[in-house]
Amino acid sequence: MKKQCQICGRDETQTEILPSIIVRPSVVDLIKINHPNWNMNGFVCSDDLQKYRKEYLLKLISDEKGDLSNLELDVINKLTEYESISEDVEKEFVAGLTMGEKLSDIIASFGGSWKFIIIFFTVIIIWIAINSYALTAKTFDPYPFILLNLVLSCLAAFQAPIIMMSQNRQEDRDRSSAEQDYKINLKAELELRQLHQKIDHLLVQQWERMAEIQEMQLEMLEEIKKSK
Ligand SMILES: [Zn+2]
Repeated sequence: MKKQCQICGRDETQTEILPSIIVRPSVVDLIKINHPNWNMNGFVCSDDLQKYRKEYLLKLISDEKGDLSNLELDVINKLTEYESISEDVEKEFVAGLTMGEKLSDIIASFGGSWKFIIIFFTVIIIWIAINSYALTAKTFDPYPFILLNLVLSCLAAFQAPIIMMSQNRQEDRDRSSAEQDYKINLKAELELRQLHQKIDHLLVQQWERMAEIQEMQLEMLEEIKKSK
């Protein structure tokens, strides 16, 4: 068989000819794009081999860039898809309350304050004082202050359910904020996992490419050494 380059057609008298078998499979794939009749048993000149090697290396590097931009695109897509779960639970909760519910919250919080105790205590003292004043004949609630008793028991009867209503609502609020916390945690966990996968992918890909580039460089160096 005549030693002729499969790509440019020159033979051994014109240039340095190498057997096709030494060409890396990945470079062969690239050559086959332009030369579909590539024969593993044929020959190739060193100039063409260098040319395709260089092309392959450039392709590797640009592929890597493509990979990175694909990843970036993926991240952007994911971010827009997922959106943020975090929202102001308190604000939404208050917005969903009816007028009566809001009012009961206000009354409950007022009933549980020092302000209420002081005002109420003062009113009772004044009431008792007015009705115990011995010199006043016109007492509207004489000792033992039966009307005051009635007023106090009415107040207690109304205050208890109002406070219970408010407490129930506080429970709902706690539950929905716990749910929200759970969702946020889950999302963080999933995104972290995704990030891990991404980094693993990058590491593996880069490692493979680096190894291949290095191998090819070694081959080239060896050839340069031989030709000298
Ligand atoms: Zn050639």
